[in-house]
Amino acid sequence: MNCPFCGQPMDEGVIQSRDGVYWTAKARPVAALPLGGKERIDLSDGMGGGLFSGYKAAAFCCKECKKIVLEYRD
Ligand SMILES: [Zn+2]
Repeated sequence: MNCPFCGQPMDEGVIQSRDGVYWTAKARPVAALPLGGKERIDLSDGMGGGLFSGYKAAAFCCKECKKIVLEYRD
């Protein structure tokens, strides 16, 4: 993927978390994140949750622009 800001190739990688990877419209207590809410988007690939693997979402990084871009499932 090329960076949508500067057009240069981005580095592919992952964002990881032990308890899930979410986007929310407003910050909320971390302990409440898995409870849901219509303004929450699960960014993980749905394969996580293992004792050592956690959750992950593929993401692209532009170190020049300091931007991270990722695609999420429905
Ligand atoms: Zn860039």
